[in-house]
Amino acid sequence: MARYIGPVCRLCRREGMKLFLKGERCYTDKCAIEKRNFVPGQHGKARRSKLAGYGVQLREKQKVKRIYGVLEDQFRRYFEQAERTRGITGETLLQLLERRLDNVAYRLGYATSRPAARQLVRHGHFTVNGRKVNIPSFSVKPGDVVAIRQSSRENASILHALEEVKGRGVPEWLQSDPAAMSAKIGSIPTREQINLPVHEQLIVELYSK
Ligand code: SF4
Repeated sequence: MARYIGPVCRLCRREGMKLFLKGERCYTDKCAIEKRNFVPGQHGKARRSKLAGYGVQLREKQKVKRIYGVLEDQFRRYFEQAERTRGITGETLLQLLERRLDNVAYRLGYATSRPAARQLVRHGHFTVNGRKVNIPSFSVKPGDVVAIRQSSRENASILHALEEVKGRGVPEWLQSDPAAMSAKIGSIPTREQINLPVHEQLIVELYSK
């Protein structure tokens, strides 16, 4: 699946907020948002104008896409799936994104950022219900058990991440067993548990035009 491979700090600067795409660096004063919080480009400093209507909705969609590392076509498919599902469309959309295997690996602290988690999944370091899965968009469901493969338990990157993110906490919908380096998916995350500063209703309004 295609992914964005350009400079990621630009994405944060475009959205005017930290999207936490670079792991530890995001928590230091080297973060581009700390140093240059204006729109990238030649006229960036003059461009953070007040948005309204379509502009606000578009920025909200871009923000969510960038947080989860999903490109337009795939994001649209998530939205269509959310629309077909019973419930609040915006909330369901976030739940679908949150259930991606790369996001789960990030939430469990096995990587310092979602892009890093995506790479770990791609490299085959995880199992779901005992079977190797290397698809970052794999959707977990309640009852599934996500684990680090036996052969990857000494992986330096994973151990480093676990050390780095100590204290960040694991969301309640994931029943983590740190000793076994695994976690059971306890439930579908609620909106409160997703804990993202986004207004998903704006995305619903954007796609409903
Ligand atoms: Fe965004 Fe992290 Fe870069 Fe800061 S360091 S701008 S939070 S990706």
